[in-house]
Amino acid sequence: MTATDSLNAIKGTRDILPEEVAYWQWIEQAARQIFSRAAYREIRTPIFEQTELFARGIGEATDVVGKEMYTFIDKGDRSVTLRPEGTAGVVRAYIENGLHVKGSLQRLWYLGPMFRYENVQAGRQRQFHQLGMEVLGSADPRADVEVIALAVDLLNDLGLPNLRLDLNSVGTPEDRLRYRAALVDYLTPYQAELDPDSQNRLSRNPMRILDSKIAATQKIVEAAPKIWSYLAPDSQQRFERVQQQLTDLGIAYSLNPRLVRGLDYYTHTAFEIIAETGLGAQNAVGGGGRYDGLVSELGGPETAAVGWAMGLERLLLLLQQLKSAPASPLDFYIVSRSPAAEAQALRLAQALRHAGFATELDLSASAFGKQFKRADRSGAAGCLILGEAEAEAGTVQLKWLASGEQEALSQTDLLNQVETLRQRMQRSLELP
Ligand code: AMP
Repeated sequence: MTATDSLNAIKGTRDILPEEVAYWQWIEQAARQIFSRAAYREIRTPIFEQTELFARGIGEATDVVGKEMYTFIDKGDRSVTLRPEGTAGVVRAYIENGLHVKGSLQRLWYLGPMFRYENVQAGRQRQFHQLGMEVLGSADPRADVEVIALAVDLLNDLGLPNLRLDLNSVGTPEDRLRYRAALVDYLTPYQAELDPDSQNRLSRNPMRILDSKIAATQKIVEAAPKIWSYLAPDSQQRFERVQQQLTDLGIAYSLNPRLVRGLDYYTHTAFEIIAETGLGAQNAVGGGGRYDGLVSELGGPETAAVGWAMGLERLLLLLQQLKSAPASPLDFYIVSRSPAAEAQALRLAQALRHAGFATELDLSASAFGKQFKRADRSGAAGCLILGEAEAEAGTVQLKWLASGEQEALSQTDLLNQVETLRQRMQRSLELP
C-alpha cells in the first residue's frame, strides 16, 4: 500500500460529487413534494443507536443483524451500531417521544445514510442511502395502499420505466406458524440439496429460503406449498382488499408467493419494487410491508404500522441511464482586470447576488482572453466585463453570451434595472 492509497475512501463508500448531487436533489425534491402533499412529515433520527435496538428490531436471525452490522464498543463501554436501516430508529423515536399519545396516527418519512458490511458490487455499498416512510397507528388496509401508491407516484414522477411491483401477504404470526410447519415438512427431504445458507435457515428461519438467489434452491422451492393456502379467512380478506384498492387506483402489481419477510412482527402486506432492466443482479429498488408487532416488540404499545424503504443509489443508477441532471443556471459571469476593476467586480457580484441573480466572479486575474473562455463555458446568460477604463468611469460592459450582443452601461443603472435585466435574461436563455 502506498502512502496515498491509505487515505482513500473506505471500501464500499463513495463520494457524491457536485455533478451527481444534482440527481440527488432532484429525487429529494420530488419526494418532499409528493410526501408533504399526502401529509407525511420528515423525521431525522441518529445515525447510531444501541446495538440492542437493531438486534430486536430487525431480528437476530437476519443477515443484516447476524453478519452485516457496523458494531463497536464506545469509550463508555456501550455497544453501539451504525444504523443498517431506518425503521427501528423511527419506531424507537415514536415510542421515546410519545408520538403515539400526541396523535392517533403518525405519517413519517426519512432519508439518510445506512451502513451494512456487505459484499461490495454495482448497486451494493457499505454506506448507502435510503428514503423511507412509515405510517404508525393504522391497521386500515388503505394505509398499506397509500404507502405503496406514494412509492409508485415518486417513481412515476422521476419517469423511471420498467418497474414491477411484487405483492404478497405473509398473514398473521398464527398463519405463519401453520405455513412454516408445512414448509419445513416439504423442504426437509431436500435438505442435503439446499445451499448451505438455506440449510442453516431450515431450522432458524425457513421462510427466508423462499427468496434464496441460489438456482438449485430456487428449483426446489418452485413446488413448495404457497402461504396463501394457510391464511386465515380474515387475512385472506384483508389481502384481497389491498389488491382491490390497488386496482382501483390503477396500480399494477404481480402476486409473488415467495416474497417473504421472515420475522414474527411482520404481518399481512409485503411488497417489493423491482427494476426489470438497468440494475443487473441487485435489482430491488425498494421494499416494505406491514409490521404490526414491531412497536410492542420494542417496548411501545400495540401499534399497527406499515412502511417501506428505497435505495437511493439504485434510483440514481436508473435515473442516470435515462436523462442528464438539470444544470443549475447561472445568470452572470463577471470578468475583471486591474486592481480597481477587481475591487468593483467583487462589490458588483455581491450586489447582484443580493438582487437575486446567480453570479460567478472570475478570481483568476488572468488575461481577459482566458477569463472570456471560462465565461463562455460557464453557461451564464450574461458576461459582465470590467477593465481599467470601466473602473474609472464606473461603467460595465454587458455581453449577452447567447447572441454576442454587447452594451455599456453604468454600474448604478445595471443595479437599478433588475426587472428589465430579469426579463432580458429570460429571452437570452430561450435562444437556441
Ligand atoms: P432493505 O432494507 O434490505 O429492504 O432494503 C431496501 C432497499 O435499500 C433495497 O431495495 C435497496 O434498494 C436498498 N439497499 C439495501 N442494501 C443496500 C446496499 N448495501 N447498497 C445499496 N442499496 C441498498
